[in-house]
Amino acid sequence: MNIETYYIPTNFTDAGRVMGLFELRNMIEAVLLAGPALYLCLTLLPTALTPKIIITMVIIVPLGGFGLLGINDDSLTRWLGNWWRWRKERRLISYRGGRLAWSRWMGTTISPIWPSCGYPHGINCVVIPWNGFTHYDKVYLSKIFTFTSDFDAVINADEIMTGGTGYKDYGTLPPEIEATPPDYSIYPQFKRAIGFLTRGCIRHCEYCIVPRKEGDIHPAAAWDEIKRSDSREIVFLDNNVLASEHGLEQIGRMGGASVWVDFNQGLDARLITTEAAKMLARLHWIRFIRMSCDTSEMLPVVEQATAYLREAGAAPSRFWAYVLVRDVEDAHRRVLALREMGVEPFAQPYWDYDGGEPTVEQKAFARWVNHRAAFRSCMWEDYQYPGKKGILS
Ligand code: SF4
Repeated sequence: MNIETYYIPTNFTDAGRVMGLFELRNMIEAVLLAGPALYLCLTLLPTALTPKIIITMVIIVPLGGFGLLGINDDSLTRWLGNWWRWRKERRLISYRGGRLAWSRWMGTTISPIWPSCGYPHGINCVVIPWNGFTHYDKVYLSKIFTFTSDFDAVINADEIMTGGTGYKDYGTLPPEIEATPPDYSIYPQFKRAIGFLTRGCIRHCEYCIVPRKEGDIHPAAAWDEIKRSDSREIVFLDNNVLASEHGLEQIGRMGGASVWVDFNQGLDARLITTEAAKMLARLHWIRFIRMSCDTSEMLPVVEQATAYLREAGAAPSRFWAYVLVRDVEDAHRRVLALREMGVEPFAQPYWDYDGGEPTVEQKAFARWVNHRAAFRSCMWEDYQYPGKKGILS
């Protein structure tokens, strides 16, 4: 192994600064601030030259210094920009607490009043999206997948809290936090409601973290609690909604409502009975009725489920299935069989929790299936990809 040593110069933080002291941006702002004052003093002050110079210096030196130093290590315009963003985006979150909202200087930070008895007895804080320019009291990071790369920017904060399955954190949030609706104003581009009717699952598939993380299936919310007043579309993240009486009841209730839905984690085809199919067929679907077909044993089950759905009046063009890719040959048989049934397959190569990456072949197979033009126009055997036997990577 070659080890190379790089010496970091002691003045590396001065890089990009004029004379190693001031950022160019600060210097320009200082000139813009002091220049007009200098001109006004020299032209308008009705005094002799010496007092004129003294008065001018008294005015422009502090002004120029203010421009050079900026505020809180930011240039004046950058600081003003942050302040303006904060004014627009700040929001108060209160859970249970009767405590006063408080935010440190200008609210440029997430400034919770963490009670001494601790979370969750009351939180009041101003929450803003991280922007990388300011110092925060606390920054929260989460990721879903262990294979998602870590956030590698420098975070300027007193405290950083990570969470989510991607960090191998299998804990749960306190119920009142779970029940808090998402703050959609943080993501104005996202127009749909998202939420869970149920949490957990009745099954224990060996490759799945849901039972370990969420336990047995249990109710989480009613559909009209999840719906947004400004949107008719709801994306449900349930893992196995059909396994729950509460989930079925909610689906039944949505049948008559003017909402468009997507169960984007897939429906358990084993639980699509004739009755469930009738309820599902009454829903308005955003696009697909998603199922999953992770093993060959699921093929006859999916076939039966689609027959029930068809009979109940669901449009076959909406039939869609996740296909877990471990053994490529087996996954290949499944995608072809699904295509025969009129179900659109979506291949997902398997990643294990400890960062074990899918093979080149598994990734290429998923690319072939999910690239509709390739899937329709060529056979897997003819699909070329770097790393394939006989093809250079
Ligand atoms: S049915 Fe789905 S959610 Fe339930 S354990 Fe299996 S993969 Fe996980």
